Amino acid sequence: MRKKIIAGNWKMNLDIQLSEQLIKEILKNLNKEVFLKTDVVVCPPFTSLLTVFNLIKDSDIKLGAQNMHYENEGAFTGEVSAIMLKSVGCKYVILGHSERRQYFLETDKTVNLKIKKALEYSLNPIVCVGETLEQRESGIQESIVEEQVKNCLKEITSEQLKKIIIAYEPVWAIGTGHTATPTQANEMHKKIRSVIEDLYSTECAKELKILYGGSVNEKNSADLFAQSDIDGGLIGGASLRSKSFTEIIFSVV
Ligand code: PEP
Repeated sequence: MRKKIIAGNWKMNLDIQLSEQLIKEILKNLNKEVFLKTDVVVCPPFTSLLTVFNLIKDSDIKLGAQNMHYENEGAFTGEVSAIMLKSVGCKYVILGHSERRQYFLETDKTVNLKIKKALEYSLNPIVCVGETLEQRESGIQESIVEEQVKNCLKEITSEQLKKIIIAYEPVWAIGTGHTATPTQANEMHKKIRSVIEDLYSTECAKELKILYGGSVNEKNSADLFAQSDIDGGLIGGASLRSKSFTEIIFSVV
């Protein structure tokens, strides 16, 4: 039985004060029982990581970052390393988000390097894959996602795979209000599992946690999470509203 994960991606939103306010509200709304059913991760912007960590460190909520560099240190102005994320209390890091791919030219190759570095420092990578609207309309969504999964996981062992979470996020569903139907999402999750089965083993495919992301809210989350192969969600916009985020967490069955 795969335990569900609900991760909130706050993107480039909320200064320290607003981050503090949001995390306090989330903490107030959750109870101990919730964490028996689901792991909860919040991924604030870099500037809020320490503040949020200090507020959640005695709770079951875990901290994640939204990106990192694949080198340890050096002349990479504006970048943050795995070591730095560890030192601020991160347990997870989102890698290869479509906004990183679209606006910052991130590729499967750099995502692969980042995954390896994250694992070296015991950070759990949440690896994002997903097709564009054009690709879905051309009917090539499965081969696109298959390629992304294969490239991102190059030279990753089955032991390392245990620490990795895949997030299927169709680009056309992110921040648009057009969520994939539960059936569409589940079909892609099954496809990803079959790719993992071919690359690794049936056991690895069964164990892998695959999150769905793309306009998840408190109204559509229960139907998505009830699908056989959807193990939770990566939540953008709705994770900025404490009531919506906690209702999404409570909708895990
Ligand atoms: C995301 O940024 O990962 C995301 C899924 O955003 P949204 O929920 O706003 O579509």
